[in-house]
Amino acid sequence: MRALIAGGAGFVGSHLVERLVDAGHEVVVVDDFSTGRRENLAAVAHQVTIVDADIADAAAVDAIEGPFDQVYNLASPASPVDYHRLPIHTLMTGSMGVKNTLDLAHAHGARYLLASTSEVYGDPQVHPQPETYLGHVNPVGPRSVYDEAKRFGEAMTAAYRREFGVDTKIVRIFNTFGPRMRVEDGRAIPNFVHQALTGREITVAGDGHQTRSICYVDDLVGGLVAMMQSSATGPVNLGNPEEISMLDLATWIRDLAESSSQIVHVPRPVDDPQIRRPDITLAGELLGWSPSTTAEIGLKATIEDFRNRR
Ligand code: NAD
Repeated sequence: MRALIAGGAGFVGSHLVERLVDAGHEVVVVDDFSTGRRENLAAVAHQVTIVDADIADAAAVDAIEGPFDQVYNLASPASPVDYHRLPIHTLMTGSMGVKNTLDLAHAHGARYLLASTSEVYGDPQVHPQPETYLGHVNPVGPRSVYDEAKRFGEAMTAAYRREFGVDTKIVRIFNTFGPRMRVEDGRAIPNFVHQALTGREITVAGDGHQTRSICYVDDLVGGLVAMMQSSATGPVNLGNPEEISMLDLATWIRDLAESSSQIVHVPRPVDDPQIRRPDITLAGELLGWSPSTTAEIGLKATIEDFRNRR
């Protein structure tokens, strides 16, 4: 089996690359390193072909040497800090990048998996969110470059299935965490862990009563592989339905890191969703998948990784 992983040098992508290499597959990574890092692939660097290219560049994608049986498209800035810094890049990656990688999958007769996001649901008015919920997205808000690019990417993926019969799959990933998240990532868990380990104030947005469900990266990677191997087309939600408030999460991380940092409150970002929790009934039915790592085990592994990298 030969797989192309777009975005393979990123947080989730690098864990997926390792999983496929461990399973004995041949892996090619295409990444422009806009938010990814070569160090993420250090453990498998000699077993993987790395192509340094922007997937929004049609000629560069066309030049990637096949054949491929599977294309996983995980390329996209994913943290709000990154997509606010790279708004046009995010839109181009989610639009032209998806089209170019779909063209590649079509040319090679490969299966194609798009890593979409719970952000397609926007600030949801239905809780938890099943795949049938159509979302509540502000098309011109600061998060729209990400949300709307992903919605466009889903539409493009569905169109390639309808028009060309490409064997496509769409997963909607909910908040995922684990080792290799960047310290400057900007999302809550890396922020809290970094702040706790360095004895800084732990900054909780708003009153901290807004909730998130957090999925450990190993569980998510299992879901991506199960989806690719299944006959399901999606969209299928992948995430951990256990919900936790941001304030509880901050306190828990502080305790696990044995830190004496103070917890302080800062203004909430615009359009920050109040609640976010996946309905993963479909993933259970179609893939036999559900997350199995407790938040405590995942948080401990993440804190350990951040500690080792300091
Ligand atoms: P990440 O930023 O760590 O990884 C993204 C990777 O894509 C990076 O290596 C980056 O350099 C690469 N990339 C970005 N634009 C590119 C382009 N135009 N051409 C080539 N490479 C490009 O993010 P992540 O957290 O690993 O997320 C991976 C995927 O999963 C993303 O598509 C994201 O939208 C999706 N997702 C992640 C989460 C999460 O909680 N981590 C949640 C929902 C969806």
